[in-house]
Amino acid sequence: MYLVKNLLIPLAPEYDLRSAVARKFKLDQSSIQGIEILRKALDARKKNNLKYNFTLLIEEMPFSKHPDLISYQKPQPYITEQLKLNDINPFIIGAGPAGLFAALALVEKGLKPVIFDRGDILEKRTAKVNDFWKKGLLDENSNVQFGEGGAGTFSDGKLTSRNRDYYSQKIFELLIKFGADEAIKYEALPHLGTDKLKIIIKNIRNYLISKGSIFNWNHKLENIVVEGGKITAVKINETSFRPEILILAVGNAARDTFELLNQIKAVKAKPFAVGVRIEHPQQFINDSLYGKNTDLSLTGAATYRLTSKIKDKGVYSFCMCPGGFVIGTCTEKDHLVVNGMSYNKRSNNFANSAIVVSVNETDFGKNALAGIEFQRKIEQNSFNPDFPYFAPIQSAKDFCNGIRSLPTLTTSYRPGVNSIDINKLFPGQISAYLKSGLNHFNHKIPGFIQNGILVAPETRTSSPVRIVRDNSKFHSIAADNLYPIGEGSGYAGGIISSAADGFKTSQIFRY
Ligand SMILES: Cc1cc2nc3c(=O)[nH]c(=O)nc-3n(C[C@H](O)[C@H](O)[C@H](O)COP(=O)(O)OP(=O)(O)OC[C@H]3O[C@@H](n4cnc5c(N)ncnc54)[C@H](O)[C@@H]3O)c2cc1C
Repeated sequence: MYLVKNLLIPLAPEYDLRSAVARKFKLDQSSIQGIEILRKALDARKKNNLKYNFTLLIEEMPFSKHPDLISYQKPQPYITEQLKLNDINPFIIGAGPAGLFAALALVEKGLKPVIFDRGDILEKRTAKVNDFWKKGLLDENSNVQFGEGGAGTFSDGKLTSRNRDYYSQKIFELLIKFGADEAIKYEALPHLGTDKLKIIIKNIRNYLISKGSIFNWNHKLENIVVEGGKITAVKINETSFRPEILILAVGNAARDTFELLNQIKAVKAKPFAVGVRIEHPQQFINDSLYGKNTDLSLTGAATYRLTSKIKDKGVYSFCMCPGGFVIGTCTEKDHLVVNGMSYNKRSNNFANSAIVVSVNETDFGKNALAGIEFQRKIEQNSFNPDFPYFAPIQSAKDFCNGIRSLPTLTTSYRPGVNSIDINKLFPGQISAYLKSGLNHFNHKIPGFIQNGILVAPETRTSSPVRIVRDNSKFHSIAADNLYPIGEGSGYAGGIISSAADGFKTSQIFRY
């Protein structure tokens, strides 16, 4: 089996891969057998002249010494079963991507996991999220981050993942099985959108129930008792249980759960990033990156990824949502935090992305929960009790000059916005890094500052803690039968890697 890289083909509704391979390697078409697309990316280096850049897997073809042709082996599973469970009903806390895909792996092995989530079932949760966005009514246990489907549900549904190992491939296959388009398997920047995600989550729920899984909504893990290096009891909604194992998939926003885990010495602080969302007209991003003459029906709305290193700090764009919305993603009363979301068609007139600065112990201190306090301070500074859950906004130009903007700016954020000097929300050095980053990005995309509006703050880029695990057995160092997985564990970030972490960890169990 061979891997063919850098097969460039001009944008077109249809293309002939076999003849393109034959041309590239000067071969007869009949000598090429079994073509599979491994990756389809856009080469946008030349505006108005974009190309597809394919990576292909080819079963049979004459081998030649060409740098773009290499022999290839498919990624293989590398986790072995290590633990026989006696209880057919292992406990999973959290029904986000990590918890759901852990459950899918367990039912493949004949187990019937019992899943608890503090939030509501999707339909009820969606109504509560809409109440929050429209009227500023926040339910601290069922919101944009908590409830069925987890934080990924009201998201852009980007399925990017740096790791394309066996387990992340498995996640793509399962997403397709439960309703995603086949193309997510090979698109370089696969995307679902919140509407598609909700369909997939319901399908996964129904499948798990059909395999004997039990879901308990509005059930919050409230205490963990550890004795002799093992969990001996957990309290969920005032009731005590004695699970054989506890798979913990609580995401990055479960601050009260991190406090519990700190009491049993299971967590340490972890670097993350904070900053703002920047919103531009999508048309400006399309024209700047793809050129005015590109057929967007073939490319989709244009997307970007920007990075810079300023002194010791990374300043970068994160979670870019073309054709999307800036949304409130609060989990605590009187705190404000924003993020980005889109629908499958990505057809809104705005493009948004986080612009964030990496922060670590030198910014927030050494205590295991110091990162959470650092986030909270910024989120409290951003909350205005006179206009609950309205977001601070400022034009990027006024932010760089430290002056308030006129209250006439338009953004996609609901329920409303406050025009303030966003510099004041952050410690001074963070604002300075953000300004340097914006200036850097303005060189890469001229007009990035002039056309940008900032909505603040973005503080939940990844988990502020790590629930430290044993490297090979995956259990917590604080308790042998506690298995932290997904983004909240600090070992994964994003939908695919969190789901893959859950799926992979569950491979160690058998019944
Ligand atoms: C608005 C938004 C947009 C995003 N966009 C993208 C994107 O485009 N692409 C991408 O890859 N990632 C995106 N992310 C990040 C992505 O959603 C997360 O990385 C992913 O959901 C993490 O999965 P998880 O299962 O580890 O945790 P989560 O999805 O956070 O799920 C954790 C679950 O645990 C439950 N829980 C927490 N504490 C308790 C408790 N004590 N008891 C019971 N239940 C509990 C919560 O209710 C929640 O349902 C986005 C996030 C947000 C908020």
